[in-house]
Amino acid sequence: MRLSVIVPCYNESDSVNEFYEQITKELKKKKITYEIIFVDDGSKDDTEEKIETIVQNDKNVKMISFSKNFGKEAAMLAGLENSNGDYVSIMDADMQHSPVTLMEMYDKLIDNPDYDVICAYKAKRSDDKPLKRVLTSLFYRVNNKISDAKLLPGASDFRIFKCCVKDAIISLKEKNRFLKGIFSWIGFNTIYIPYQPEKRLYGTSKWSILKLIKYSLSGMISFSTFPLKAIFIAGTLVFIVGVINFILMGNLSYRTIILFVSIIMMSIGLISLYVSRIYNNTLERPNYIIKKKIGYNDKEVKK
Ligand code: UDP
Ligand code: MG
Repeated sequence: MRLSVIVPCYNESDSVNEFYEQITKELKKKKITYEIIFVDDGSKDDTEEKIETIVQNDKNVKMISFSKNFGKEAAMLAGLENSNGDYVSIMDADMQHSPVTLMEMYDKLIDNPDYDVICAYKAKRSDDKPLKRVLTSLFYRVNNKISDAKLLPGASDFRIFKCCVKDAIISLKEKNRFLKGIFSWIGFNTIYIPYQPEKRLYGTSKWSILKLIKYSLSGMISFSTFPLKAIFIAGTLVFIVGVINFILMGNLSYRTIILFVSIIMMSIGLISLYVSRIYNNTLERPNYIIKKKIGYNDKEVKK
């Protein structure tokens, strides 16, 4: 199998047929063996039924469907763990990632044996609302200062890579997965190409600002222990303030006590994020549960 195209889908009933037609048109032009793996992430609409019909009529298409919504990270992981291609790609089902661009990325990877990963990054964020733009830029700035996984601003999950890269990603067994960070952490020769995501054909983005903040925080915690060191630094500073306060006034002022309590509360909050991470990892729950898997034959990878 030459190429695997992994497509996470959540409530994409309106897009899925059109996506299938466009990607198939481009893949057929290449005259290569390929598989399209749709991962239905517990959709509440009839995405799953539509994909099933596609699978029944095209032996190049496979579907994995989850027992409920586990999130895009889990869907991408399931696709990777159940793919057979020498080259593997991930793209969205909503037509924001152009199949034509994917084929250009494929050519680039084939023409340059030294490259391991081609990643599309959003060169312009002009379509985002101002608050999202500010938060995104703040996230990249802070992340790249404190994290072991440096990220190129705008880098997306829209990527194509060699199967050795896939094997490296799968070998990381952590629970709260942050694929962009994982890609950075595992290394390999990555080439970034600018792209302009298309407008979403149907429906709306599944990402609210709150979800994005949670996801970004979780990603940072995955690859940085700096916040824990920062607690020590903050504690030391507050201790010095307290000592000075005591020497000058003979007791601790109201303000100093409030500062103490605030720092302690914030520190406990921060530590609890790491503790909950440890807790989640000890539970040994899988990242996803597969309800149905169709289009695979016995020789192919099984999970
Ligand atoms: N998606 C998913 N599970 C989710 C949310 C999203 O599989 O819980 C899929 C979705 O169907 C799409 C891709 O992930 O194919 C990107 O989602 P979306 O378009 O909402 O994100 P954005 O493009 O705004 O980053
Ligand atoms: Mg989208």
